[in-house]
Amino acid sequence: MTTAEIAEMQKDYLMPTYAPGLALVEGSGTSVWDADGNEYLDFVSGIAVTNIGHCHPAMVRAVQDQVETLVHVSNLYYNEKQPQLAKALAEHSGLPGAKCFFCNSGAEANEGLIKLARLWGSDKGKYEIITMRQSFHGRTLATLTATGQEKVQKGFGPLPEGFAYANFNDLQSVEDAIATQTAAVLVEALQGEGGVVPADPEFLPGLRKLCDEKGILLLCDEVQCGMGRTGKWFGFQNYDVQPDAFSLAKGLGNGFPIGAIVAGEKLADTFHVGHHATTFGGTPLACSAALSVIGVVEEEELLANTMMMGAYLVEGLCEISVKHKKWVSGVRGLGLLLGMVLDVPALPLQKKLQKKGMLALATAGNVLRLLPPLNVSQEEIDQALNLIGEACEELHEEMAALSPNPCRCGMGE
Ligand SMILES: *Cc1c(COP(=O)(O)O)cnc(C)c1O
Repeated sequence: MTTAEIAEMQKDYLMPTYAPGLALVEGSGTSVWDADGNEYLDFVSGIAVTNIGHCHPAMVRAVQDQVETLVHVSNLYYNEKQPQLAKALAEHSGLPGAKCFFCNSGAEANEGLIKLARLWGSDKGKYEIITMRQSFHGRTLATLTATGQEKVQKGFGPLPEGFAYANFNDLQSVEDAIATQTAAVLVEALQGEGGVVPADPEFLPGLRKLCDEKGILLLCDEVQCGMGRTGKWFGFQNYDVQPDAFSLAKGLGNGFPIGAIVAGEKLADTFHVGHHATTFGGTPLACSAALSVIGVVEEEELLANTMMMGAYLVEGLCEISVKHKKWVSGVRGLGLLLGMVLDVPALPLQKKLQKKGMLALATAGNVLRLLPPLNVSQEEIDQALNLIGEACEELHEEMAALSPNPCRCGMGE
């Protein structure tokens, strides 16, 4: 089918919840191809999902082998892949006594974290979860309520009770929000959807101390920043902090749907038989996919590559930013979860890049989010930087043609 045919059919048969522009039909490594045969350099990675690149041979093999052996049995029975995956995650988490629960998506993992915190607090009169403004935690009713953005909540009331909000990177505002009913603080080490905003160096350690003083839980949403994306296995490890539990999804299965809760010793045995369950969670197939991802990150030393390529990409982006400082204010992020922060909407830049054969993601209005796979090469980054440089040049000229001072109108330039 051509892109036009696919788009027409989608219009007739799918709820219009998304507004895709491209129809992608094939991928390999950092490249994807559309239905009309055009190739793109993929710096979106399915929104921080395909961390080891498209169709990595190790994952293809693991999934093929498993699909021929055993796909699903339910959690009524043991399957050896589940404890193997849990062990690997527990060890990489560094949380003493860590145990896992497997589910199918990020929202479901966070929903599980919320249940875990509530059950932990149920005999203490504690149930409320404090989350951050501009956070993102998912689209189920509980997780969209946890999400500190009114635009995802509007129209879906009445929302579940038991959530309060504080400002990210503002310890005082979290302290002010804590009350006798507070059970937990839930936070991203780096807000992805919120515009690629990393926690300040003091924020997470400060939260850890505050939560300990108040006798409440610190929970991390690692759905986007986990699994090596920031150059550490988990985002909180950049801050030398241990949460009581955290959620995973996106990069865990490299596109095979799987989510997880990893809980340290305080919460590892809080759920008992009957407290929480899912039919699909942790199938042999999903766990095999995730185990192959962890194997590749270890064997190909992708944490080191993420740090190195991240630093290299930042350097190149900074050069472009300086060149266009009239309308680009800078670069931020950790590892290969990076944002180029503009003073103008980022969507025109995203569109321009797509025309040139590169996928990037406009986020939070004015941020161009860049999420190449963790095994991206220096040549691919050079290619991306060339395209971004060209696109910025063109955008700059177009804006200049519109107005003599197009970029910081009213900002005293
Ligand atoms: C994407 C995301 C989620 C939601 O994950 P889904 O798999 O889409 O339900 C939750 N938290 C964060 C930080 C995310 O980036």
